[in-house]
Amino acid sequence: MKCRICDHEITPFMSFGKMPIANGFLLPDQYDDEYFFELKPAFCEQCYSFQIDDQPDPELMFHDQYAFFSRTSKFMQHHFSEYAAWVCDNHLSGNDLFVVELGSNDGIMLENFAKRGIRHLGVEPSANVAEEARRHGVDTIVRFFGPETATEIVGKHGQADALLAANVMCHIPDLNGIAEGANRLLKQDGVLVFEDPYLGAMIEKSAYDQIYDEHVFMFSAISVANIFDPHGFELIDLLPQETHGGSMRYVLARKGVRAVSPAVTDIVKAEKAAGLHLPETYQHFRENCEASKARLVRLLQEEKAAGRRVVGYGATSKSTTILNYCGIGPDLIEFISDTTPIKQGKYTPGKHIPVKPYAAFAENYPDTALLFAWNHQKEIMQKEGDFAAQGGKWLTHIGDD
Ligand SMILES: [Zn+2]
Repeated sequence: MKCRICDHEITPFMSFGKMPIANGFLLPDQYDDEYFFELKPAFCEQCYSFQIDDQPDPELMFHDQYAFFSRTSKFMQHHFSEYAAWVCDNHLSGNDLFVVELGSNDGIMLENFAKRGIRHLGVEPSANVAEEARRHGVDTIVRFFGPETATEIVGKHGQADALLAANVMCHIPDLNGIAEGANRLLKQDGVLVFEDPYLGAMIEKSAYDQIYDEHVFMFSAISVANIFDPHGFELIDLLPQETHGGSMRYVLARKGVRAVSPAVTDIVKAEKAAGLHLPETYQHFRENCEASKARLVRLLQEEKAAGRRVVGYGATSKSTTILNYCGIGPDLIEFISDTTPIKQGKYTPGKHIPVKPYAAFAENYPDTALLFAWNHQKEIMQKEGDFAAQGGKWLTHIGDD
């Protein structure tokens, strides 16, 4: 295959096997039509980007039923309020500011600019979430972002001081189109700010469940610099984040226009020390994934042999990669509890483990809980003190024995 960024010939360094749509929770009468593709990550030795080879048709992943509303999480509301404040304090100044966000979802970030009286516009492809954003006073157009949309926005509103995104860039196969759109949209001293799950954190933790159909890319600072360099942008700031098990916030501006923070040099240096630019790092990662799989399957089989009940905690999109790669089905996990009503009563993609409401866990504790929402481990451990107090045991796929 060719690299999506630079056209260099690339070869996947491993396969996770046949995967269903990560968020494709389903009913038994849909099993026969279930879609599978082969999940194979690849590393480009020319631009250092980490990407998946094959990706299902976007319509299979982002449909009406997808309806992911960011606003439902208090934790994320707080995160976006801080994100907006950080952008305002560090990278925006002047009068009559104009801020655009791509993939603005239900307006959870832009409402913080709206409250400050800053001109703003959300660009969101899903009509239902865009409608929710408007209800919260956030101006939103229903579009995919690219060069044409950028030209349209500039025609109506003028050029922007900032183009923002959160957990969106890594979903977009054509990043050159995004960069070209940013070029048209931004003022000469405008900034492009986005954050996504961080490759460095994934490699460090062997958190391979970050790899699934929706994540076309996992970024490093080195790769982001290379992606935007041909379009005239450079990295001017970086800020590591704890969200999604380890994320990175990237700030780019036109070359030579803004001061470059020392964080950029420091983090690029740390990435080189971790070998994120070297193909052998991904061979090690593959070995770590295989070891993690062997360990998890062994632990679950031991639980079963000892007659202990095991239940999954959090039917996340990420859990689809773990369950299908490791071949874990209802013989090893009785059910997975989840608080999202749309998933309850359905079955997990590929392995068809039942998804039950949270009460099924809380009202009849299992012996062991396999934590799929490991990125919220801290909050969950606080909430579930009783489970541990009654002898309940937690497992994750990324821990040690
Ligand atoms: Zn490349």
